[in-house]
Amino acid sequence: MEKVNIKNLTVDEMTEKFSELGLESYRVTQVRKWLYQKLVLSFEEMTDIRKEHRLLLEEYFFIPSLILHGFQQSGDGTRKYLMGLEDERTVECVWIPEPKRATLCVSSQVGCGMGCGFCLTATMGVLRNLKVYEITEQIAAVKRSLKEGEKITNLVFMGMGEPLANTRNLFPALNILLDPLGFGFSRHHITVSTSGIAPEIEKFGNNTPVKLAISLNATTDKVRDEIMPINQKFPLEKLFEACRKMHLPKRNKITFEYVMLHGINDTLEDAKRLVKILSKLKAKLNLIPFNEYPGTSFKRPADEWVHQFQKVLLNAGFVVNVRKSRGRDILGACGQLAKKGWDREQ
Ligand code: SF4
Repeated sequence: MEKVNIKNLTVDEMTEKFSELGLESYRVTQVRKWLYQKLVLSFEEMTDIRKEHRLLLEEYFFIPSLILHGFQQSGDGTRKYLMGLEDERTVECVWIPEPKRATLCVSSQVGCGMGCGFCLTATMGVLRNLKVYEITEQIAAVKRSLKEGEKITNLVFMGMGEPLANTRNLFPALNILLDPLGFGFSRHHITVSTSGIAPEIEKFGNNTPVKLAISLNATTDKVRDEIMPINQKFPLEKLFEACRKMHLPKRNKITFEYVMLHGINDTLEDAKRLVKILSKLKAKLNLIPFNEYPGTSFKRPADEWVHQFQKVLLNAGFVVNVRKSRGRDILGACGQLAKKGWDREQ
């Protein structure tokens, strides 16, 4: 008999399997607390469960984990982790500490198939989707490695991959992350970022209450077609229509991410077009001055230019943040994840 991966199970699936084994339903609560809050890696450690029940669990299930190959630490405190998967492939995630919070940037696929021209991950192509437990275990593995006083308060799905190309595994993983018996994150502290798979956006709104970010990066179809191939399939108007139709939980806004590429999408006309676009949506904006990496032809705009661009939007009354680049020296900043800079590159 093949053992079942207990971390791929939803609450309902676990309840059903436990009942088939004659285990009381409250055991589900106990086991989930051990798995996701105490982060144990064996049934043996679940000491409030009777020995014979632990042995029964051991017989039918296994507890998987990712192999933490190591991390690189940036001068600004950011850490980039390399995690090994069951098929020996690897993914990266990035821990970004700030004075009042610490964000983990999580991956949803090995590589990415969306082909955005400014993104290092795109050069890998997509190798496969991450499974439910491979998504949640990134958080568990980093948590286990944190030092006294370090924490994870926020999650952003902006690592490797297009999360909305893997909703089959993303939605159950989000349920575990939100579940008070799971990791217990607040819905306000999780953001999923998409390049704009329009039909999946409505589905997202109907399936999860967490926040959505759209990686916009252009104000005309002509420019977006060039730097983000997804736009040829779902052009801007289709994307905005999906955003308008999406169910937005109370107080939520859609965050539009805008990677500023000098001479490509950072003119003042672009800023004015953004004002028009955002005024029709419940939206806020993050400006991300491009993080250059070896071999790219795109250029980062000067800080003063970013400031001028931001001013146009602020004057129009929008919430506009300029994202500070973190972890650039270890290729851990936005759009820089592609397993570069490790001894064991694959
Ligand atoms: S920017 Fe995001 S969606 Fe685009 S290729 Fe990179 S990882 Fe994929």
